[in-house]
Amino acid sequence: MLKVYNTLTRSLEEFKPLKPGIVRIYTCGPTVYDYTHLGHARTYVAFDVIKRYLRLKGYDVVHVQNITDIDDKIINRAREEGVSWKDIADYYTKDYLEALEKLNIQVHIHPRVSEHIQDIIEFIQALIDKGYAYVAPSGSVYFEVDKYPYYGELSRRFEKEQWRQETDVLAEKKKPYDFALWKAAKPGEPWWPSPWGKGRPGWHIECSTMSSKYLGEQFDIHGGGQDLIFPHHENERAQSEARFSKRPWVKYWLHTGYLMIRGEKMSKSLGNIIILRDLFKEYDPRIVRLWLATIHYRKPVDFTEEAMEQAKKNLERLIATVELLKRKIKETPVAHRLSEKELKTLYELEEVRRGFYNAMDNDFNASEAFSYVYKLTTIVFKDIQYSEVNALALRAYQILYEFNQVLGVLDKEFTEATIAEVELTEKLVDLIVRVRSELRKRKMYDLADSIRSELSSLGIQLMDKGEKTTWIIKKTLS
Ligand code: AMP
Ligand code: ZN
Repeated sequence: MLKVYNTLTRSLEEFKPLKPGIVRIYTCGPTVYDYTHLGHARTYVAFDVIKRYLRLKGYDVVHVQNITDIDDKIINRAREEGVSWKDIADYYTKDYLEALEKLNIQVHIHPRVSEHIQDIIEFIQALIDKGYAYVAPSGSVYFEVDKYPYYGELSRRFEKEQWRQETDVLAEKKKPYDFALWKAAKPGEPWWPSPWGKGRPGWHIECSTMSSKYLGEQFDIHGGGQDLIFPHHENERAQSEARFSKRPWVKYWLHTGYLMIRGEKMSKSLGNIIILRDLFKEYDPRIVRLWLATIHYRKPVDFTEEAMEQAKKNLERLIATVELLKRKIKETPVAHRLSEKELKTLYELEEVRRGFYNAMDNDFNASEAFSYVYKLTTIVFKDIQYSEVNALALRAYQILYEFNQVLGVLDKEFTEATIAEVELTEKLVDLIVRVRSELRKRKMYDLADSIRSELSSLGIQLMDKGEKTTWIIKKTLS
């Protein structure tokens, strides 16, 4: 049974989607005014792991992650650079989508705010019509928090003094804790026409509008970093429950722990960000993904070089495991009889598999789950490597394949095309080695040596023993 920690109730709950068999997830995406950084990746990978695990358990999953492409930060950045807000938004949206692709994250729908202005206006109008929102003299529209009786439950802020927000517009709000749904246009800012005059949407309303448009008036999981609990998610919840008169709007609220660097949250405002496209020059994106995918999503985590080096070693070990298994499956015969020891190993594999599922069922404990992935590699190197039949290698291969449905770092190794490519490469290298042996026999050592060094630069190492030459591929990850 899968249990998840719900921020709303601050407890572990049994996971049961609203509609059997399908899980609808909305996560808050980036404000595209700068490059995507490792802190973002922490949250995006965490939800990708959650989503993949749900799929592995047999659910159909629909995942929506928005792109905030209208915002003060974007407008300011455009001003600084002397370009339009849209140029800024388009440029950093591209960077964000490239980062997701490199991290092997697939989101089904990526709604952009600028494409949903009419939907947002309709949402706000509905709130005005139901008496939850008011239009200020400036043409801005605010949500009247006092009208919604459940405000503060998600963030556990039960005192009104704790709700104060958007202090720059205090004068025109009924209460200091009311928040903007629609912001009247200021000179030089982008605007859209609305029943209340020229303006643009506030931040929170976009997520209520786009999530319900694609996932319905109620859905299963809403996620983001912990920084979003207040005010963003508190406000989203208030708007949506007010409009749809259905509770709960979201069944499970999930929040990720911060990615930290030297003890501080990684964030643009603290000036300590590691931009992903820089990091990917140093570390293969698969290493970054593996590191992030094997941390418990709720735990804060520190970025360190040592952690990355460890992730690199782990990935190399996983790749070596798949390759060993592939070779073993090819080379060993079908099992007609297993020894006692082999049978024991087979059952150890099943325990490893169960351990992985149990860990993930316990609030997606990916770090514990990874200890079972590691155990599997140990069994492969310690026992399966020496087995004379293919039964164990086959089972280990299937289990690792399942694990990779969640980890998402071994896709290349598991594709059939790669097996064919590997076979072709092996045949070609064998051919070159045979030609080189012939050259050596004919004492054409210069040519033989240059073939050896060319192959070496391609990562293929030749070993001469008398007349016989063997070879290995030396794989290194960046
Ligand atoms: P932003 O563009 O800052 O609104 O962030 C987009 C998403 O990334 C949100 O879900 C944030 O909570 C998350 N996020 C940003 N920085 C970090 C961090 N240092 N650690 C974890 N999540 C983060
Ligand atoms: Zn949001």
